[in-house]
Amino acid sequence: MGEGTPGPSLVSAKRSLFNSQVDKATLEIKSLNPYQNKYTIRARVTHKGELRSWSNSRGQGKVFNVTFEDKSGDIQATGFNDQAEKFHPLLEVGKVFYLSHAQVKPVHNRAFNQTSHNYELTLNQNSLLVECLANTDDVPTVSYQFTPIHDINFKSDKDAVDVLGVCSKVSELREVIGKSTGKALKKRDVTLMDENESTISLTLWQDQAETFEGLHKIVTCKNAVVSDFNGKSLSASFKSRLEVENLDLPEAQALRKWFDSNNMARKTAAMSGTPQSGNIDQLHDEFTSFGMINLEFMGTQINARYYNVDAVIAHLNGDKLTYKACTEDNCKAKVTESGSNTYFCKKCGKSDSKFTYRYLMRGHALDVTDHQWFTAFDEVASEIMGLSATELMALKDRSDADFARKLDSIQYERYLFRVKCNMETYNDENRLKMVILKAAKVEPGSPAHIERLRNALKDA
Ligand SMILES: [Zn+2]
Repeated sequence: MGEGTPGPSLVSAKRSLFNSQVDKATLEIKSLNPYQNKYTIRARVTHKGELRSWSNSRGQGKVFNVTFEDKSGDIQATGFNDQAEKFHPLLEVGKVFYLSHAQVKPVHNRAFNQTSHNYELTLNQNSLLVECLANTDDVPTVSYQFTPIHDINFKSDKDAVDVLGVCSKVSELREVIGKSTGKALKKRDVTLMDENESTISLTLWQDQAETFEGLHKIVTCKNAVVSDFNGKSLSASFKSRLEVENLDLPEAQALRKWFDSNNMARKTAAMSGTPQSGNIDQLHDEFTSFGMINLEFMGTQINARYYNVDAVIAHLNGDKLTYKACTEDNCKAKVTESGSNTYFCKKCGKSDSKFTYRYLMRGHALDVTDHQWFTAFDEVASEIMGLSATELMALKDRSDADFARKLDSIQYERYLFRVKCNMETYNDENRLKMVILKAAKVEPGSPAHIERLRNALKDA
């Protein structure tokens, strides 16, 4: 150890001296201003950004942001270069620190500052940061205003929401090119589910995407950004705060209990289509009927629920079975013909000479108890028809009679369906909406089918 470096005992002695003396002199965050040079704040780290590299005409270096909060308010601090490298590893979300000698300046760019403060802090070489080891119960932890997942449907694009859900699916890590920067970004989609079995996709970025390990854990995200992509989805931003399995929150405890006591880990694996789900026949003990589903929804406000049913297709709406769709990756929007061989996609805002057919199947299914209207999207409808939408339309082009025969061949075919049901209001009337998520044709003599029937009898 070099002569100029104090030994560990001296550091801790200084630290405890600091801890005992500094308390009386702390200033509330809301009182910080540029005319106040001597101050110490005592505040909890509620957000810590990644250590990022920057480069421009003046050079290059590192930068990170951190948000401190006490009961008076919050303020953002930024560290550049040496200060970024020094302070970034010391700070930890959830811990309380004393901070002094950081420069107080007006907020430089509101777009990069999430706090309500008019000023922000810059960490410099004189800044002093010490963790508060005493009782910190008086410093508030992050407060959440959770929006139920179903209600996110009523939020607008780019709204910020606090969301709580159990992670029912974790997608692969992917790399995309950032629109504004042109740089490669790592992203990962995770699916969150709440007690109503409502689900939503949350996109994580960079470090958070790379290190996420939260399957079947409780995930909270403060300030997730609503996107209109694919129905509604959420994206974490630099303003967001992600927590995995923080069971200090009563809402998180309740969700944990619900998930475990309903054996949801197994059920979500079955509905998410991940490899461990096996096939639909393995769900034999959880089949229900249209009659039971309607009873369950009668006069209630419950959100979407998932079921397995055994039913026949009674009727398909043959006129509107397919639509002309945009060929861009991940864009499934309908295109309109805007000239000869020109198709315009409103969502992408561009014209193309190509389109692709996709299914939007609507029809009517029957089981022994009731009948039910359903919708099936492209993938499932292809399974039901045994043809892609493009193949079906080619068949129709060749022969209307063959097309009609193909539709007839589906009628009264029996399937095991995985369905998602919810109540929707149409012309002031409540009606049950059913989307088919998976379909498996019943082969009456197959061993799997016989075993399923046996099990159903056992349960009855
Ligand atoms: Zn498009």
